[in-house]
Amino acid sequence: MSDYKINTKCVQGGYTPGNGEPRQIPIIQSTTFKYATSEDMGKLFDLEASGYFYTRLQNPTNDMVAAKICDMEGGSAAMLTSSGQAANFYAIFNIANCGDHVVASSTIYGGTYNLFHVTMRKMGIEFTFVEPDCSEEELEAAFQPNTKAVFGETIANPALTVLDIEKFAKAAHAHGVPLIIDNTFATPVNCRPIEWGCDIVTHSTTKYMDGHGAGVGGCIVDSGKFDWMAHADKFPGLTTPDDSYHGITYAEKFGQAGAFITKCTAQLMRDFGSIQSPQNAFLLNLGLESLHVRMPRHCENGLAVAKFLKNHPKISFVTYPGLEGDKYYELAQKYMPNGTCGVVSFGFKGGRAAAETFMKNLKLAAIETHVADARTCCLHPASATHRQMNDQELVAAGITPDLVRFSCGIEDAEDLIADIAQALDEV
Ligand SMILES: *Cc1c(COP(=O)(O)O)cnc(C)c1O
Repeated sequence: MSDYKINTKCVQGGYTPGNGEPRQIPIIQSTTFKYATSEDMGKLFDLEASGYFYTRLQNPTNDMVAAKICDMEGGSAAMLTSSGQAANFYAIFNIANCGDHVVASSTIYGGTYNLFHVTMRKMGIEFTFVEPDCSEEELEAAFQPNTKAVFGETIANPALTVLDIEKFAKAAHAHGVPLIIDNTFATPVNCRPIEWGCDIVTHSTTKYMDGHGAGVGGCIVDSGKFDWMAHADKFPGLTTPDDSYHGITYAEKFGQAGAFITKCTAQLMRDFGSIQSPQNAFLLNLGLESLHVRMPRHCENGLAVAKFLKNHPKISFVTYPGLEGDKYYELAQKYMPNGTCGVVSFGFKGGRAAAETFMKNLKLAAIETHVADARTCCLHPASATHRQMNDQELVAAGITPDLVRFSCGIEDAEDLIADIAQALDEV
């Protein structure tokens, strides 16, 4: 599929049925797979042969859907995970261990910030957070001899900052480490970070990719472009023998294209088991089949809502990278010329109380701990997803107490604006 355009990959990537085979991706609802001899199975456990043996590690349905996302992102290998959180945890933990360090953008999703700043710190991994629009010198200063990766989000949730991918890639590569980007909000329809120098892409497929609020899931895509062997001393997990697989060395046996995802599957999926259910992978694929049709409508509605709010007397600020005049408009034009996402953030002159009154009076837009859905939904991050942050951390994450994250669905823009207008009348 790799020569086709993204629109075609969305519909047909990842699975090409043979004669008489099912047209739709089959759901292989089986925990295990049968073999004729113990020798056959032994080869799988030694990674000497490829094949399925237990769905905690790999399942054919998942792999077909992962192959589609891999194709869409322009990667060399990919895997599905049970959630976006699992995807980001695996992507980092696959190359950074106790005693290591990671540079991350400060405006990342609250759940990821907590994963890094609290939970992974307990595992002995240190993180330095830098503002996404920091200077090259400031970015440079964040690196340490034990830095193993750089992490950011194409469009941050919910701060809506746009990452200067080339700037971050350049800094990462100058230090011999990969750039990992969470591309959840842009989706490969609007941005393919690998084309700009990113090495590993992650997703919460729960959002636009599924698009219907049906299943929590995640994905990791490797570009296959990072030369682990050239920085062998930094990544012993990939470049020295793995005792738990009879001494194979991932970067040698599976090459640059396959090492990262194979290690991630063989070690982390085996040990942590954050696998997506094949049923959910099937639902995710249904979402992917229309992603390229839905994204332009999300963007169209996002821009219409942003334009309406921009001039409203009760609104103190509007953040939407697709809106001319936005701080990130130029970067968005560079990396996402066809549109950004459907999420608009805004604040109220009346502060936190006005935000709460507004939300209470919405009729069409629902209050949900969700975003990037076909149905419009909204959230007050300071009292929900970012609740664990203190005021200082909130500011660093680009969030004020009056900020509302408004996720435009694919309904009619006029209806969305009418709903917003009547709720604003109550403020
Ligand atoms: C939602 C989200 C996550 C976490 O994904 P889950 O599927 O909820 O675990 C990670 N990154 C971003 C940008 C998100 O929006």
